[in-house]
Amino acid sequence: MAQVTTSIITIGDELLIGQTIDTNSAWMAQQLNAMGIWVHRRVAIGDVKEDILEALEKEAAVSDIVLITGGLGPTADDITKPVLCEYFHTRLVQHEATLHRVMHLFESRGLPVLQRNVDQALVPESCTVIENTRGTAPGMWFEKDGKIYVSMPGVPHEMQGIMETYVLPQLAAHFSTPAVIHQTLLTAGMGESFIAERLVGFEAKLPSHIKLAYLPSYSLLKLRLTAFGDDKLATAAELSILFHELKELLADIVVADQDMPIAQVIGQLLLERGKTVGTAESCTGGQIASWITAIPGSSAYFKGSAITYANEMKVKLLGVKPATLEAEGAVSEAIVKEMHAGALELLETDYAIAVSGIMGPDGGTAEKPVGTVWIAVGDATNVVTVKHQLRYDRERNIQMTAVYAMNALRKLILQ
Ligand code: AMP
Ligand code: MG
Repeated sequence: MAQVTTSIITIGDELLIGQTIDTNSAWMAQQLNAMGIWVHRRVAIGDVKEDILEALEKEAAVSDIVLITGGLGPTADDITKPVLCEYFHTRLVQHEATLHRVMHLFESRGLPVLQRNVDQALVPESCTVIENTRGTAPGMWFEKDGKIYVSMPGVPHEMQGIMETYVLPQLAAHFSTPAVIHQTLLTAGMGESFIAERLVGFEAKLPSHIKLAYLPSYSLLKLRLTAFGDDKLATAAELSILFHELKELLADIVVADQDMPIAQVIGQLLLERGKTVGTAESCTGGQIASWITAIPGSSAYFKGSAITYANEMKVKLLGVKPATLEAEGAVSEAIVKEMHAGALELLETDYAIAVSGIMGPDGGTAEKPVGTVWIAVGDATNVVTVKHQLRYDRERNIQMTAVYAMNALRKLILQ
């Protein structure tokens, strides 16, 4: 089966100056990939006529499909429509259904309809208009010399609506594409180069239609196996055997055999056991609680958090002893142990996570440099403490601490 290829062109000066992050390409690539269409190239350009024309020509020369977002707004900086007219040798005409929609949208909100809004209903004559139920600028589908071009608004949720309701189903009907199946393993506790060493033999024998990707993030690493094949069931079966083998090879560091946040892994463990958890957070300022509560249904196992940033709050809320603070300092094993015990009592949970550290950029000393973190996890009888020495910026140190703390609890629960 021949591979169907796409180029994505994102248009907008804001993308080039870094004011807007190009999330459209990532979202589109994920959708296309899931249906077996390969994204061959992603190009970001400004609202410049010559650049748009050049990109259209270049991308149509190498891809079957050219998806375009941006430059369809009612303001003068948005020029994609007239440029498309020039490229396809057509002219702008009024599209009645769109005009009706735009008028209705403004009138129903009690707003005057400006000429620039009326102009949103002007579309290149040769295109098929795609209704945009989430905004005023419609999508436009063109076909030329066997290639498909689709122009969509830059606003992410408008583009997504147009893709989901029209573009993706049309592309699926237009092309026959191979099945693409992914399986992801989440691991913790080993760096990617060490894992790669362990997987040398496994990778060497992977057939060319099955790929292994390493996706590190903080102290976790995702390993994604992707299989392409004409027969979906056979491809899934082949992938499943290899995935099982991968899991066995990494059994000591596997966190989950699905792509899920570590907070969800902990949630499942607690749910299965009917246990609860709470957190006592100093340096993470609630990050752990925030990640836990981002998982739907977390109220079944998460009770709350004491964010005790200042020493006096550690004393007041968690019963930490001033004498321990004096003797050991807030970032110490003794303090996270007392915070842990205090959290169990205050929050009345089975398990608690306590963290205290110096996240930087200031506040370090020779004895306790920036990045020093103490973590305590456990229940009333079994408490484990860990010290980490992090070397990153403040934001990353906070996130690493949260991941380390959750992974420590995960390991303790599984003991
Ligand atoms: P436009 O269709 O050019 O008027 O784009 C409208 C808005 O959508 C812009 O102001 C951006 O904030 C947003 N936007 C445009 N292109 C992208 C993109 N590639 N990814 C994410 N947001 C975008
Ligand atoms: Mg724009």
